[in-house]
Amino acid sequence: MRMSNETLEQIKVQMRRVMDAGGFYAKKLEGINIDDIKTQEDFEKLPFSEKDNLRDAYPLGLAAVPEEEIVRIHSSSGTTGTPVIIPYTQQDVEDWAMLFARCYEIAGLTKTDRIQITPGYGLWTAGIGFQLGAERFGAMTVPMGPGNTDKQIKFMEDMKSTVLCATSSYALLLAEEIEKRKCKDKVHLRKAIIGSERWGEKMRKRIANELGVELYDIYGLTEVYGPGIAINCEHNTGMHYFDDYLYFEIIDPKTGKNLPDGELGELVITTLKKQGAPLIRYRTHDLTRIVPGKCPCGREYPRIDVILGRTDDMVKVKGVNIFPGQIDDILKEIDGVSSEYQVFIDHMDGKDQMTLFFETECTGEDRKVLEKEVRIRVKEKIGLTVIPKAEGIGDLPRSEKKSTRIFDYRY
Ligand code: ZN
Repeated sequence: MRMSNETLEQIKVQMRRVMDAGGFYAKKLEGINIDDIKTQEDFEKLPFSEKDNLRDAYPLGLAAVPEEEIVRIHSSSGTTGTPVIIPYTQQDVEDWAMLFARCYEIAGLTKTDRIQITPGYGLWTAGIGFQLGAERFGAMTVPMGPGNTDKQIKFMEDMKSTVLCATSSYALLLAEEIEKRKCKDKVHLRKAIIGSERWGEKMRKRIANELGVELYDIYGLTEVYGPGIAINCEHNTGMHYFDDYLYFEIIDPKTGKNLPDGELGELVITTLKKQGAPLIRYRTHDLTRIVPGKCPCGREYPRIDVILGRTDDMVKVKGVNIFPGQIDDILKEIDGVSSEYQVFIDHMDGKDQMTLFFETECTGEDRKVLEKEVRIRVKEKIGLTVIPKAEGIGDLPRSEKKSTRIFDYRY
């Protein structure tokens, strides 16, 4: 996607501000003359920022405004101990609420909707983002926060909540609980807004059917406001994102080179108006693509695909990038194949070899037919020949970390 002159100018203003503020970006961008950045190509030569860089700025090294302008912080949890702290100005908080309100509008909510919010409130950006957006939008919230399923269902029934905001796993848990209690006729939900992460098509169907809702994927990350920076519309052709506040790029996660629209890669975000902690070329490690063309809904906001996985899970086999989401997508379209699978990559006789284990209820000759189909479909979709191996339901080991689907034994 071509960057407009206006966007380039906005980015240069942001760069001047973060460099003048000292701190993290003054070091990161040291030696760069902003006046030399005249084109998109010049911009694409700037260094990336990584979460680890932000962590090094702990606690308030990211602040690009004087302390009296900071009204709040949020924090993204790290697995390595030191959290990332993001300072917000009043304007940032208002901008975020406005962007989130746009998301509710795109998802087709009205002011008479009642929004039950189950993500956590606090340092995390989720609950409070859903809350502020709803208040700005003008719908009533039921601010539950996480857990306490009995109370969730009681309030859902008594308050006649029409919209559920949740993670995919909590939405599934609630759906199963409602099914178990046979109280679906007392539930008034019509839509569910789910924090975007990689979640399977089968899970999607179960949540949609059991809760009787339309599903919306909402995207965001604490480093960039929080949730509420992209959401799909009723046409389900990817998530609209707000290019008047954010500049999105897709790069090859291995080489760092920008990719053309439509190609899968890593999402990199530059903020255009953020004050407290602007970010220049921030690597999200989320895998997606720019959806080319225009959405049938007529909205001008461009689109990214739903998040297909994390770049950390991606591996390269015979020059082709593969990641778990692609395999999910292929298997879910083949009748008789369950959602459980594992991929093993080996180096044998001088070449890479990929074995795909999947589970099925089929036996005997039917398995052979299914294996053949899996081999053909994978070849069609990603251009690699795999060795398909059908296993019985429950035969594959279940790993603790659900996302571990690809095992690379080459090195
Ligand atoms: Zn649309």
